Amino acid sequence: MFDVIIAGCGPTGAMLAAELRLHDVRVLVLEKETEPVSFVRIVGLHIRSIELMAMRGLLERILEHGRQRPAGAYFAAIDKPAPKGLESAHAYLLGIPQPVIVHLLEEHAIGLGAQVRRGCAVAGFEQDDEGVTVELADGEQLRSRYLVGCDGGRSTVRKLLGVGFPGEPSRTATLMGEMEVGVPQEEIAVKVTEINETDKSFSLRPFGEGVYRVVVSVAEVSDRAEPPTLEDFKQQLRTIAGTDFGVHSPRWLSSFGDATRLAERYRVGRVLLAGDAAHIHPPAGGQGLNLGVQDAFNLGWKLAAQIRGWAPETLLDTYQAERHPVAEDVLDNTRAQMELSSTEPGPQAVRRLLTELMDFDEVNRYLIEKITAIGIRYDFGAGPDLLGRRLRDIDVKQGHLYGLLHRGRGLLLDRTERLTVGGWSDRVDYLADPTAVLDVPCILLRPDGHVAWIGDDQQDLDDHLSRWFGKPAN
Ligand SMILES: Cc1cc2nc3c(=O)[nH]c(=O)nc-3n(C[C@H](O)[C@H](O)[C@H](O)COP(=O)(O)OP(=O)(O)OC[C@H]3O[C@@H](n4cnc5c(N)ncnc54)[C@H](O)[C@@H]3O)c2cc1C
Repeated sequence: MFDVIIAGCGPTGAMLAAELRLHDVRVLVLEKETEPVSFVRIVGLHIRSIELMAMRGLLERILEHGRQRPAGAYFAAIDKPAPKGLESAHAYLLGIPQPVIVHLLEEHAIGLGAQVRRGCAVAGFEQDDEGVTVELADGEQLRSRYLVGCDGGRSTVRKLLGVGFPGEPSRTATLMGEMEVGVPQEEIAVKVTEINETDKSFSLRPFGEGVYRVVVSVAEVSDRAEPPTLEDFKQQLRTIAGTDFGVHSPRWLSSFGDATRLAERYRVGRVLLAGDAAHIHPPAGGQGLNLGVQDAFNLGWKLAAQIRGWAPETLLDTYQAERHPVAEDVLDNTRAQMELSSTEPGPQAVRRLLTELMDFDEVNRYLIEKITAIGIRYDFGAGPDLLGRRLRDIDVKQGHLYGLLHRGRGLLLDRTERLTVGGWSDRVDYLADPTAVLDVPCILLRPDGHVAWIGDDQQDLDDHLSRWFGKPAN
């Protein structure tokens, strides 16, 4: 019997497993692939995800494998530098291959005690009052208290759950892969320049060791689940370029569409959804992986609290209440970005206008805070603007604030030195620091770094500790 079974060891599943292990939850991750993915898709970790890595002590290791780039120019690839003074100690984008980030997160989860079983596809499940019976493709049955589908856009868990996935189907599809070519580089360069005059998405460029990265769009969109073949690439290259460049010896081949869909619900009883299993959208702005990892960060401590038995009654439902609107907003901004990327005269005119508007610092800042997810404010009720937002990393007397959050617990940061976390000290840490750079007396942080309370009154604090962390221990 496990506490939680996670279907899928992508970035979302691996992050969730690690977050649950911080609270000693017995976790099993089931991954259908026997080997980690081989395709090297470079993704961008945006500011909020980088901050999450810092909050769990993972950032140094991740920085070793990534390249820091300026944080700006990601909204519809409009070329504007990030505004000055973005409120973050990590105001950059980190370019990193997706398999590397998945490997590091998986390693972190295993280091904390998560079990990962590869070559195990979740094929069915049934839930009852006490738990979920999960069935694997080979018929083996496993039992857990909760099941979380982190099994990607074609999620089996979501389909079996019967949760609707409304939205728009793909209108375009793109083939992407790495392979060798049979013609000289100069010949390729001439052809690519010619095609790029009308089709900016086409790309065929050297990627080291004689291998070329091919990106070519497909006219006919199909919804098939299998990866494309080399023949598909050849055919499409001939259609677009009039030659297949003699491509051969593929290293990996993949395809992606531009469908935009959002699960109607993130939870049905003991089964939850996170990451691409809950939302898909085109890669504009590079937000999908970031969104999934942040879902996991929001869900982890809440599900752990439920299992440990101290969760207030409605805590687990705040996962959907907080994250569904965030995904809705990301879907909308990708829709807008796709429109702005159209070569039609109307969208091009809107793009020129927006480019001009982004010269206003506030417009530029608003868009970048959206893409990097540092602008998110959860609805915790009326209160100061900081309530519900994430707190940036600040200097405190022990060093950096985020250095105090590695264990995934709540934190009371008290400049008055008068308050106490009392009976919640098994879940919430306390730091008295009159020197902390804050313009409020005290802040209560949730384990995900969002501000749950601001004030200086002990009774009011106790009410909010109960709201987020349940009943005090005796
Ligand atoms: C071209 C392109 C560029 C992108 N660039 C960026 C970017 O720059 N930044 C960004 O944030 N995002 C980017 N994305 C999006 C990002 O790759 C995805 O959003 C991300 O991989 C989602 O992570 P996930 O863990 O939710 O799902 P996935 O990565 O799809 O992982 C799901 C896992 O579940 C496994 N699985 C599936 N079914 C089962 C089953 N039945 N049982 C057990 N296991 C199962 C799969 O094998 C897989 O390992 C890009 C996407 C594309 C296509």
